[in-house]
Amino acid sequence: SAELLDGKKIAGEIRADVAADVASFVADGGAKPCLAAVLVGEDPASQVYVRNKNRACEKAGIEGRTHRLDASTSQGELIDLVGQLNDDATVNGILVQLPLPKDGNGGAGFDEREVLDTVDPLKDVDAFSPVNVGLLMQGRPRFLPCTPHGIVQLLHRTGHSVAGKNVVVVGRSDIVGKPMAMMLAQKDGSCGRDVANATVTLAHSRTADLGAVCRTADCLIAAVGIPQMIKADMIKPGAIVVDVGINRVGSKLVGDVDFEAAKEVAGAITPVPGGVGPLTIAMLLHNTLMAAKLQR
Ligand code: NAD
Repeated sequence: SAELLDGKKIAGEIRADVAADVASFVADGGAKPCLAAVLVGEDPASQVYVRNKNRACEKAGIEGRTHRLDASTSQGELIDLVGQLNDDATVNGILVQLPLPKDGNGGAGFDEREVLDTVDPLKDVDAFSPVNVGLLMQGRPRFLPCTPHGIVQLLHRTGHSVAGKNVVVVGRSDIVGKPMAMMLAQKDGSCGRDVANATVTLAHSRTADLGAVCRTADCLIAAVGIPQMIKADMIKPGAIVVDVGINRVGSKLVGDVDFEAAKEVAGAITPVPGGVGPLTIAMLLHNTLMAAKLQR
């Protein structure tokens, strides 16, 4: 049975490191770092995410502020709020919780891209702005996107090198798949060469014979959003399997990997929950402190 990669434990270690760094930043005369979250509408999952992020902030000595807007808010009002947060020197990081409600902006829906593009790149702790994406692409990142950065930390801190190996990333989203592929293919990664220098394949919904592609992976990273889509017979024996998926099935959370069967084939695997999810929040705290340092 596979080694269980305990994301929750590693996230705890990173959060303790960030809390210690925040304390010395403040002792050094820095203002208490502040993360402002913008939450539009009533989506239950988004409310839970924002609440968890705020709680994690407070525990790390970071102020978490939430700006709640009604789904009926207009695109212009939302852009204005982001502009105010850009100009507010007491705010270091800005997070616009996605997805924005489909029926928002007077029923027309929001232009998410325009909202995210408004966030000051120096406060862009999600690393969604074109400037931060471009810097990452060029191998000189400022903020790293939280979920793929958490995965890099997980591999690094559990001693799983991907250098020279085949990594298959399933899913090409701007939030997870694309930056993940880019980070692992760099010459020098954020945690050194062992978690960079991979030979990366970026698979997606149009990939032909996904099973065969996945079976080439020494490290398989699933970010698909389809419950238990990655079956045991798609995994190379001994491979490292990272499951990014968070899918609600009834009252249970399940990943994109068929965990029970996969753990009999894989060499190491992340559980859901308790795998990648907690790491994402830990890296958000890390980025907020970094933003405070950049702005000082
Ligand atoms: P997304 O919906 O934006 O992208 C999904 C990707 O999967 C697409 O690129 C698509 O091409 C690919 N895909 C869809 N069907 C496929 C198929 N049949 N075969 C191969 N590829 C297919 O999703 P996302 O935002 O990257 O999120 C993916 C999953 O990760 C979701 O379950 C989400 O909840 C979860 N997630 C978790 C965290 C975390 O902190 N753990 C963070 C972000 C997202």
